[in-house]
Amino acid sequence: MIVLEQPEALRSWRKARTGSLGLVPTMGSLHAGHEALVQASLQQNDHTVVSIFVNPLQFNETQDFDSYPRPLQEDEDRLRRLGTSVLYRPKPAAMYPEGFETTVQAGPGGGGFEGEFRPGHFDGMLTVVLKLLLQSGADRAYFGEKDAQQLYLVRRLVEDFHVDCEIVACPTQREADGLAMSSRNVHLNPEDRVRSTALFQALSAARVLFQKGERRPQALEQAMQAVYRQAGLQAEYAAVVDDRTFQKPAGESSGNWRAVTAVRVGSTRLIDNLRLDAGD
Ligand code: AMP
Repeated sequence: MIVLEQPEALRSWRKARTGSLGLVPTMGSLHAGHEALVQASLQQNDHTVVSIFVNPLQFNETQDFDSYPRPLQEDEDRLRRLGTSVLYRPKPAAMYPEGFETTVQAGPGGGGFEGEFRPGHFDGMLTVVLKLLLQSGADRAYFGEKDAQQLYLVRRLVEDFHVDCEIVACPTQREADGLAMSSRNVHLNPEDRVRSTALFQALSAARVLFQKGERRPQALEQAMQAVYRQAGLQAEYAAVVDDRTFQKPAGESSGNWRAVTAVRVGSTRLIDNLRLDAGD
């Protein structure tokens, strides 16, 4: 594995190679969720680039950016063990050199949910993802369903800007009690770690109701809220969306429904989601 820090170095590395390239964009502090994306890329491509970049543009809270975990050596060792071809670890000044001023703006699918509670987050995320896709020239890029709205917006980005890259979605990796793996979980104290299982329980409650035939979004949302009340938590949102638009479901169709939620547990903000009509 080689470590590169400059966009030009990544571009030259790619130009000097034939065969397919998979890109796995991350912010580091790698866990089994990231590993699943890397494994998928390793299986499907001749080369795999993993980027680690804590993107200042997508953080709407300085405190969250500053406290974001950055175990550099551990991440590097883990990627080396997995068989990654390149670790791409640019510094902010390389990604946003002086004079930088053009950004991507998310469309309506980025307006609600995470977009509402983290203003500017998706514009920053889309800007850096477009940069990484262009810098690497990847044939495929790997994203987790854990961040379902992000996945939706990245698919739109690639289609709307005619980027020649296949977006591959990977299922959410969970702890044994259902908590979705996340770099932010390290901030949970033992008590909050127990309460954090409420997210998966709320989503599962919605799915059980859906599987019993409930098709009123409001009833499904109330089932989620009931779980949070019992856990003494208040959701930022607990909603049902149409996966194809990331808007509230319209009309009678109940295919492609996904329950999505965000909750602050102690000082840690957690998100999760679950397809209602599938067994993941
Ligand atoms: P992050 O480092 O949090 O920006 O995440 C990098 C990529 O890993 C994104 O595509 C995430 O959706 C994905 N990811 C994060 N957590 C998980 C998880 N628990 N399961 C699957 N993918 C994940």
